[in-house]
Amino acid sequence: MASTYEKLVATIEDAAKTAGIKENDYLMFLSPERELHVAIPVMMDNGKVKIFDGFRVQHSTLRGPAKGGIRFHQDVNIDEVRSLSAWMTFKCAIADIPYGGGKGGISVDPTKLSERELEQLTRTFTRKISQFIGPRLDIPAPDVGTNPKVMAWILDTYSGIKGEPTPAVITGKPVPLGGSLGRFEATGRGVMFACQELLKRLDQTLEDQRVVIQGMGNVGGVAADLLAKEGSKIIAVSDVSGAIYSEKGLNIPAIIDHLKEGKLLDSFKGGFKRITNAELLELECDILIPAALENQITEKNADKIKTKIIIEAANGPTTPEADAILAKKDVIIVPDVLANAGGVIVSYFEWVQNLAGYYWSEEEVNTKLYEKMHRAFDLVWKVKTEYNVSMRKAAYIKALRQLADTQEARGF
Ligand code: NAD
Repeated sequence: MASTYEKLVATIEDAAKTAGIKENDYLMFLSPERELHVAIPVMMDNGKVKIFDGFRVQHSTLRGPAKGGIRFHQDVNIDEVRSLSAWMTFKCAIADIPYGGGKGGISVDPTKLSERELEQLTRTFTRKISQFIGPRLDIPAPDVGTNPKVMAWILDTYSGIKGEPTPAVITGKPVPLGGSLGRFEATGRGVMFACQELLKRLDQTLEDQRVVIQGMGNVGGVAADLLAKEGSKIIAVSDVSGAIYSEKGLNIPAIIDHLKEGKLLDSFKGGFKRITNAELLELECDILIPAALENQITEKNADKIKTKIIIEAANGPTTPEADAILAKKDVIIVPDVLANAGGVIVSYFEWVQNLAGYYWSEEEVNTKLYEKMHRAFDLVWKVKTEYNVSMRKAAYIKALRQLADTQEARGF
């Protein structure tokens, strides 16, 4: 079976073929520029040393420093990090921000570590990749299993090595350390904007849309909150412990308060039905938002999906095989490289503020985020119409053109 990265390469080649982009102009985006694999020793609370595998991949630095999150999850492996880093190259080109693509991760279940173990793991990983990252080189951010506190440990360790405060080395950090207002909400807010932009083109609004969300972490939780505030009915949500479903609509603020206490959905109580994550994806709804992990909608369940719109808040939630099945069912998919670009857009704003030493209001951040998302959506939609292709293919064509232009301008 083809790996996630091999499938991504096929997607890129297919988009290039449709748009008549020559092989010389895209070949360099099929192979990551640099990959680092490090062994991270941690003294566990039981007195035993454990070694964890860590990765940082810089897929491209053609358009600027590599940019992309750091994931802590037990399934992290080089193929996944490589794929996530390549998606970042395309996402940054689509959002038109001056970055390449990168990604990192550690193969660890962070929920099984004490806070001290997690901090040591993060700080040792940072030391091991410190020659590889930097404000002008490669700028990490949060992803699955990491959060502003982890970003603060990375910033503190890196600044210690450099001997000077270096806030621009990382984004998604706490506001007192130079984090941007609006960054925590940015990816979920961008997902909400993506829903709005699509519905506008279908002569609909967010009001009364019946929405299902897989994953109630940073991205899914904020998207649920903002969509509910816009009048959508969130009928089902899930996390790693399972899903809850109510046709009347769920009480999203109460769910978010519960999750903020560090609990999971399996201990949330109320008048709803408990279902599995697999059943959640197959619910009849207006908008389905996968916001957890990749490879959730596959050839095994695509035929059972009963929505007309999928907004990919997670990276890579739909496999190419599922894409083909869903296309036949006329399901519109707003692809990850566009739908979840809000996070990296506000990460870019955070970096700009750090380098300038001048900080913006939350309103200013949200307005600028909307402008960037709106423009990216509009340009992808124009390519979709021009070639009569899916939004995913249109997004890749738009990005490839931009990357090829940059390559030509730099000279080979
Ligand atoms: P997170 O760790 O905050 O949340 C992940 C959520 O998914 C949690 O609710 C978790 O319980 C749930 N989950 C984990 N495994 C699951 C499973 N097998 N089935 C169902 N649910 C499961 O992570 P996040 O930052 O919200 O990231 C979610 C997705 O969005 C990822 O694909 C990530 O790459 C992508 N993304 C995140 C950002 C960002 O700014 N955080 C930006 C762009 C894209």
